[in-house]
Amino acid sequence: MADQISHWIDGKPRDGQSGRSGPVFDPATGQERARVAFASAEETDAAVAAAASAFADWRNTSLTRRTQIMFRFRGLLEGAADEIAGIISSEHGKTKPDARGEVQRGLETVEFACGIAQHLKGDASSQVSTGIDLMSIREPLGVVGCITPFNFPAMVPLWMTPIAIACGNAVVLKPSEKDPSAANRLAELFATAELPDGVLNVLHGDRVAVERLIEHPDVAALSFVGSTPVARAIAEGGTRHGKRVQALGGAKNHMLVLPDADMDLAADAAVSAGYGSAGERCMAISVVVAVGDAADRLLPKIQERIAKLEIGPATNPAAEMGPLITAEHRDKVVSYIDSGVTEGADLVSDGRGITIPDHESGYFVGPTLFDRVTPDMKIYRDEIFGPVLSVVRAEHFADAVSLVNANPFANGTAIFTNDGGAARQFQREIEVGMVGINVPIPVPLGFYSFGGWKASIFGDHPIYGPEGIHFYSRPKVVISRWPDPIHRGVDLGFPQHGK
Ligand code: NAD
Repeated sequence: MADQISHWIDGKPRDGQSGRSGPVFDPATGQERARVAFASAEETDAAVAAAASAFADWRNTSLTRRTQIMFRFRGLLEGAADEIAGIISSEHGKTKPDARGEVQRGLETVEFACGIAQHLKGDASSQVSTGIDLMSIREPLGVVGCITPFNFPAMVPLWMTPIAIACGNAVVLKPSEKDPSAANRLAELFATAELPDGVLNVLHGDRVAVERLIEHPDVAALSFVGSTPVARAIAEGGTRHGKRVQALGGAKNHMLVLPDADMDLAADAAVSAGYGSAGERCMAISVVVAVGDAADRLLPKIQERIAKLEIGPATNPAAEMGPLITAEHRDKVVSYIDSGVTEGADLVSDGRGITIPDHESGYFVGPTLFDRVTPDMKIYRDEIFGPVLSVVRAEHFADAVSLVNANPFANGTAIFTNDGGAARQFQREIEVGMVGINVPIPVPLGFYSFGGWKASIFGDHPIYGPEGIHFYSRPKVVISRWPDPIHRGVDLGFPQHGK
């Protein structure tokens, strides 16, 4: 019988009761390696109840104790980083160094959360009116639902949970059902760090659990990262149910290459950001916009690099790119390549039909490169989320900027140039949330915040960093006057400060 992956509720594993479960595959072999429980609405209620009950004490736990737990968790996570990277690779398929990098980026958010006492400091003013003091403090929200995607099964939960918890909230984390095990390991580490039972619960499943979290009256806020249609639905549903929502969606990231760019640097960047993690990154570059004659010099360099890429399972230490997440997703990516050919783009490198020795049933697609892609083509319009890079040729810089700004997605973008003036103009004119200048994947560090614009985000708050503190806490203003010897008597007038 396949291994069963259970929920983690109230500080311990809890077997699924719904009778529903889903397969978890090893994408490199196509073998089912486990089955994960799918929560029912009733099991979701039980997880929320555990969190709500833990919240009552956790919100009153001192900042110093919360800090100590976060520091302990940080140490444990660092110690378990290789093990967690192994779990990620076995269920997601990404290479071990890539998985290790993901844990490292998650650690940065934990480190930020270790400074919670500093981040939650409020403001105070003495004597705002005669004998009256004012303070503004931040308090936790309550139970927070965190719903995360398959492509970063450790990092995205770590973007949310340390900050939500450090702010004093209790969490129900619903990770992707495609690679659920890393989340359970994080919960175990939090428990070892002495986080009280029920403050972090991991609830596995599909839309049934998510829909219950959206409508549950005891869930105060929802953090979501995933595809744009689901992000939009969560933002609309959560808001309708009176919740605070941050929902990060999909992407179609463009990289401009100007004719004066260092073409070797640009080719390295396009290949790294286009094919890293098999293109299954929200910050992957999926469109290279080559300005003027840049394409003719850039394309041969990209092709040269593609030819040398080692594709294979994470168990092969030389592998640079692994498989896609499921057979279904591989078929979808292949159908996009088919449509690019049908719609008339030039297929320069074809990743279809690749086979890896001893891994013939793995979900591999090789690096694929299209030239002369136009904005009306499906491969340009849709987020493919696979190793498919499109080159669009633009005559002038202004055409390239207009193309990026016309795209509904606006997660990340980059420009490669040696012209400081052009880079600055790009930085100012581009309508995208995260911008790289000679940097292909501009992912902010844990002490800044992460988030795109337009259809790449719904809700007012980017994720983690200072925005995470603001999202997971709400301000309270306290105005106080203590009895003094001068009693002023009844005054029905509106208070006039300064008196
Ligand atoms: P997804 O939207 O399919 O799933 C994300 C989460 O939502 C999962 O936990 C899933 O179980 C749940 N879910 C799926 N369908 C649902 C539905 N109909 N109703 C309620 N819940 C549902 O996304 P994915 O395929 O896991 O992840 C890839 C997507 O995530 C890509 O679009 C990628 O760009 C995006 N992503 C964005 C960011 C970002 O920061 N903007 C980061 C990582 C991934």
